Amino acid sequence: MAIVHVPSRTADTLVTVLVTVGVVLLALLALYLVGFDQGAVSRSGMFMHELMHDGRHLLGVPCH
Ligand SMILES: [Zn+2]
Repeated sequence: MAIVHVPSRTADTLVTVLVTVGVVLLALLALYLVGFDQGAVSRSGMFMHELMHDGRHLLGVPCH
C-alpha cells in the first residue's frame, strides 16, 4: 500500500485566479477604450477616441 502526499496548492491557485482576473479586466478596459469610449466616461473629451482611432478601424468597430 502506498501513501501519497499531495501538497496543498491553494496559494498557487489563488495567484493564478487573481492574475487571470487582472488580465481579463485589463483586456475589457482596453476593449472599451478602443471600441466604445467617446469621452463621457474617461472625461478626456475626444482625446482617447482620437488616440485609439486607428485601432478602432483596424478591428472593424463602427466609428463614423
Ligand atoms: Zn473613425
